[in-house]
Amino acid sequence: MSTTPKDHFIDEALRKRKDQHRFRELTSYQPKGTTEVLDDREELVNFSGNDYLGLSKHPKVINRAQDFTEQYGSGATASRLISGTYTIHNKLEQKIAHTFGWEAALVFNSGFQANSTIISTLANRHSLILADKLSHNSLLNGSLSSRASFRRFAHNDTADLESQLSRAVDKDYDRIIVITESLFSMDGDRSDLEAIAKLCKKYDAWLFVDDAHAVGVWGTNGLGLTHGVSGIDLVLGTCGKAFGAFGAFLLCSSKMRDYLINFCDGFIYTTALPPAVIGAVEAGLDLIPDLSERRNRLYTNIKRMKKGIRRAGFQVGNTESQIIPIMVGGEEQTLELATALEDAGFLATAIRPPTVPKGSARIRITLSSAHTKEQIDQFLTTLDQLNNE
Ligand code: PMP
Repeated sequence: MSTTPKDHFIDEALRKRKDQHRFRELTSYQPKGTTEVLDDREELVNFSGNDYLGLSKHPKVINRAQDFTEQYGSGATASRLISGTYTIHNKLEQKIAHTFGWEAALVFNSGFQANSTIISTLANRHSLILADKLSHNSLLNGSLSSRASFRRFAHNDTADLESQLSRAVDKDYDRIIVITESLFSMDGDRSDLEAIAKLCKKYDAWLFVDDAHAVGVWGTNGLGLTHGVSGIDLVLGTCGKAFGAFGAFLLCSSKMRDYLINFCDGFIYTTALPPAVIGAVEAGLDLIPDLSERRNRLYTNIKRMKKGIRRAGFQVGNTESQIIPIMVGGEEQTLELATALEDAGFLATAIRPPTVPKGSARIRITLSSAHTKEQIDQFLTTLDQLNNE
């Protein structure tokens, strides 16, 4: 018998994290208004949320969540294939498919759950997955658990993707699946979906696009960056970001929907989304196509913030969106800047390795249409002062 306690490995792992200054803790905040939160000391302007259109506080979204709870209860009480598919679940899926212009849609309990289980249902150990190097952890999870051969192509590098595709076609893979995000979650930059879709067509590969940060915000009527791009097989949208709610949906063919309902473990073996969430997402879907005024306000906020951050002396990488990295580099300096910003009344989270590559620690700003010009200007004045102290 070993003499070390059975939880020794936990002590070791936590100690290592602390030695590396990478130990993370949960901080609790209380929302107050759409862009403010309270921590235990003071009120902060939140520049680290994903409520891009301020819908989490929209009266119509809240009312329908309440209404569906009163009508149908607090939980769906079973998984979808048992008795948890209420009429409202089916109706929502039809409405999502219709609004986004796809044959079918299927809702999942979260984007993480969808990505990690859909991909492992599509691929097997005879398949090849080629994923953009900066793909979200949920996409990586799904790829690795599928047991497929897994390779990454250089970030946003369609030449590298083509070279990997051309080498793969003569091999004996049963299928090739290409994975990318439309708008990358840590850098805010975009992929060239037209070019990637063309390559997938040329090499007869499947194309899975995670549109999590774009739905609601970008594309015609906020229908995402995948909207209008032909040759994409599957699109993942989340409802926890611009929808201001929770859950996720997949846009796909009816045949694919049937396949996933029959074979996707992350869809089959879990309790269906609760009525409150279905109500909130349905209300968000009714609102989103007509929210161009909010979208325009967000686009103006993005311009103002990007220009100001550059003026304060920081790089923002290749962002083309509401996700703006303030590049710092060193982990400790990034933490110091986040703390100084918090002391000045702003919640702007430090993102460090392993979430981003070593040497690219940053403050990651996420903007909402609900942020005011004054909030942005005050943030920029503080950033400028801190950088020139
Ligand atoms: N994909 C991307 C690109 C994301 O950024 C996230 C959330 N961080 C997810 C998927 C997961 O979505 P959810 O929060 O709905 O689980």
